[in-house]
Amino acid sequence: MTEQFAYTQKKLFIGGEWVSPIDGELVSSINPATGAPWALTAFGGVKDIDRAVAAANEAMRGPWRTMAPTQRAALIRKLGTLLEANAPRLAELETQDNGRPLRETIANITAEAQWYYYFAGYADKMDGRVVDMNPDMMAYTTRVPIGVVGAIVPWNAPTLVTTMKLAPALAAGCAMVIKVAEHTPVTTYELAKLIQEAGFPPGVVNIVPGYGATAGAHLAAHPDVHKLSFTGEHRTAREIMRAGAVNLKRVSFECGGKSPHIIFDDADIKQAVNAVTHAGFMACGQSCALGSRILVQRSLYDQVVEEVGKRAKNIKVGNPMDAKTDIGPQTHKAQFEKTLGYFDIGKSEGARLVAGGTRLAPDGLSDGYFVAPTVFADVDPEMRIAQEEIFGPVVSMMPFDTEEEAIEIANGVRYGLTAGIWTQNLGRAHRVSREILAGTVWVNTYRILHPGLPYGGFKISGIGRENGPDALEAYTEPKSTMINLTGEYPYPYG
Ligand code: NAD
Repeated sequence: MTEQFAYTQKKLFIGGEWVSPIDGELVSSINPATGAPWALTAFGGVKDIDRAVAAANEAMRGPWRTMAPTQRAALIRKLGTLLEANAPRLAELETQDNGRPLRETIANITAEAQWYYYFAGYADKMDGRVVDMNPDMMAYTTRVPIGVVGAIVPWNAPTLVTTMKLAPALAAGCAMVIKVAEHTPVTTYELAKLIQEAGFPPGVVNIVPGYGATAGAHLAAHPDVHKLSFTGEHRTAREIMRAGAVNLKRVSFECGGKSPHIIFDDADIKQAVNAVTHAGFMACGQSCALGSRILVQRSLYDQVVEEVGKRAKNIKVGNPMDAKTDIGPQTHKAQFEKTLGYFDIGKSEGARLVAGGTRLAPDGLSDGYFVAPTVFADVDPEMRIAQEEIFGPVVSMMPFDTEEEAIEIANGVRYGLTAGIWTQNLGRAHRVSREILAGTVWVNTYRILHPGLPYGGFKISGIGRENGPDALEAYTEPKSTMINLTGEYPYPYG
């Protein structure tokens, strides 16, 4: 029965070993380009989560805890090297699992090694402070690992999101249980093999893909998990926050976005159009940082709408394994249907459809989850297509007159993840960046991620930051130690 699958993995990675699920199951994964099952993998149930959490806690009491930080750094660096060397193979698997074009997955997974190199550099530099209290006291601070971290990962970029959590957690000395999304488990199993090859002690990293409602919810509520690092929808984040309240778990949430991409009349139009088109459709539209609201100063508006519409029609949608493909399918059926639903919502709200708005069957892939890159113009900022995260290749274009109006529209949503500004005016670039409520603002560029720069959201786009020293802090607890140098404790009573 398993021969029909191109990829099979019937075991979970727990406690440094490959083990059969106790109360999980074998589940087939759909290749979204064909709509057909392509992989058969093990999903964990609640007992498997229990076993993984126990293994992670055991690791926190074992050699991982006492390992010299330089040694920890060496392991993390080795994992980066292995990921880089295996990137083409992992990219082929990720593309078949989630439909993102191979061109993008190869580039992305290769670049993800940088996260391990960057955080390996921090592992042996987590210095504290000596505090000069008074001559009788010696006081210092240290940062200690927060403990066992539950990582809950979405389907749009499983290796990247896992890496952004794992690299700083390992540098901080934590152990992790990783639950990847039910739609895209495959590359995380391959990452587990690299973790094993790198030589991490058993239980430091445990990989248990599974369903959100069972494995995910159990991990979120588990009393022996000390922190949750979640990427996904804000509604799920709320549930996880409630579940995590059981033992006041620390949380980091990376949620969705509805990012404004603003073109002022002094911008370099050609570059701006390059960027807004790419930012609106990258990753098949399934990126939290998608520049899904394009705001254009009125004097340029018609010209930019026409050009973005023309380009959207020329984007090559097709088989993601083909190097010429620009965008692939939506990753799963529910997301595909959601995107189609927003085509209808945009039309019924009275927005002007400039390009797309239909499903596609490119390269004869009639059962794949393909949709056309879609441009709506003359969108009112209050319409649902301007307010809600679609997570598909759909942009809403709207005009504005003044800088103040652009800022007001940009901030007029519940999200606050990222934003882009196109202007040649230095003062305006700083002014607008300062006013926009978003965790990242790109000026005359878009969606550059770097392991050293904090990434995360204002408002419902999240809590906390990934990347950089902020991420490292999120995986540690500060501790104060005070030592009485006098040896005396004067008795205060009577
Ligand atoms: P989702 O919230 O539906 O699922 C994310 C993960 O949570 C999955 O692993 C899922 O199984 C799990 N889950 C679901 N219900 C759960 C529960 N009750 N308890 C515990 N875990 C549960 O999100 P999604 O559809 O997989 O991903 C898309 C969303 O992720 C979008 O909103 C997108 O913007 C966001 N995202 C954000 C970033 C970022 O860095 N800010 C990056 C990528 C994706």
